Amino acid sequence: MEIVDIVPPILKNNVIVTKVDQLFKWAHGNSIWPLSSGLACCAIEMMSCAAARFDLSRFGYEVFRPCPRQADLLIVAGTLTWKMATPIIRLYEEMPEPKYVIAMGNCPIAGGPFADSYAVVPGIDKLLPVDVYIPGCPPRPEALIEGMLKLRQLIMHPELAEKGTEIEKKVADA
Ligand code: SF4
Repeated sequence: MEIVDIVPPILKNNVIVTKVDQLFKWAHGNSIWPLSSGLACCAIEMMSCAAARFDLSRFGYEVFRPCPRQADLLIVAGTLTWKMATPIIRLYEEMPEPKYVIAMGNCPIAGGPFADSYAVVPGIDKLLPVDVYIPGCPPRPEALIEGMLKLRQLIMHPELAEKGTEIEKKVADA
């Protein structure tokens, strides 16, 4: 017998039975706090996300934190040079667990138009674990919102990420 079965029928429409773990994931997925950090042009799109037109606060994600110790999402928005790699890694390491990384734009994904440059990191995944990739040059604010909603899915259903890893392994083995 499940716990939900002991709820009287008259209360079934008014009572939710869940696990604390699920409740925590639901709260976490709906209150992501990104770090206020931007590197280049993509950061302008990230900033406009939080303004009135796109209104990121509809999803509970508008609380951009100036301190990494209060943030759980690093949006790598823009061209990452090797010179900036150390500060970005330091910011990431100062963030508490659980923490997530979004690569926003072609530059942090694979160097973008500067892929051949000696000064540009050819992909932030060489330095940090990336949870969501948002391609584009630059991606529009709607794309960032979509990426954050994908991250919410990953937080609320971590088994999806595990399935993705299994599929990647199978493809690599084939
Ligand atoms: S991806 Fe395009 S818009 Fe974004 S930082 Fe690179 S050059 Fe700028």
